[in-house]
Amino acid sequence: MFSSSQAGSHQDALIVIAFGLDVQAYIENEAHQQCPRPEQCPHCGTVGRMTGHGSYGRKPKDLERAYRLRVKRWQCQHCQQTTSCLPSFLLSFRHYLVSIIQAVLTQRFEVAASWSELRPRCSQAGTPALRTMQRWAAAFAQQATTWLAAVGAALAGQDNHSPWLEPRPPTETASQSVAAALLTASLYLLAWAKTRWAEVTGYDLADRLAFLWHWGHDRGLGRLV
Ligand SMILES: [Zn+2]
Repeated sequence: MFSSSQAGSHQDALIVIAFGLDVQAYIENEAHQQCPRPEQCPHCGTVGRMTGHGSYGRKPKDLERAYRLRVKRWQCQHCQQTTSCLPSFLLSFRHYLVSIIQAVLTQRFEVAASWSELRPRCSQAGTPALRTMQRWAAAFAQQATTWLAAVGAALAGQDNHSPWLEPRPPTETASQSVAAALLTASLYLLAWAKTRWAEVTGYDLADRLAFLWHWGHDRGLGRLV
């Protein structure tokens, strides 16, 4: 049974899971049913009391179509609160797949495209709408300072020296917005993560926002876009 409600993502605690990046494979394999049981309740911290609590429907979009998929939900038998396990190709408050949003953000902040240049590259037949894309860019720019600080700290703490930390010419640093810097830092974060976690070895350049979201959500950074 599909529920069109997205309410689950608002009241539930959220765990972001790397289910792979292919939304079609997620649907065909009913991957939500293979979701690992969370050890600990994100609401109350109780360990070992999470039980399955069904699932809810989401209808994420890309440029061509809307998908229908299920998000697995768990309930804590201690506090009764619910938690859902969101695949990393979805954000909690956005209809579009993360890959679509990443394309817009990289055009806007890395390529420094104007909105009229960006529009034909990132949308088809008015989808996503210009206003929607502008909202993503504004939200990402707003979160970028917090996220960049966390990514920078993680890269500084790693064993191998990251080129991210090399001193750069002041002109380049000054001209880069914080949002652009975060997109660049996410490349280094992903490169580092690939040496540590088998689950992200399949991630490439186009998946860095999905990885950043997965990584940062685990660290309590909250909203990204
Ligand atoms: Zn609990």
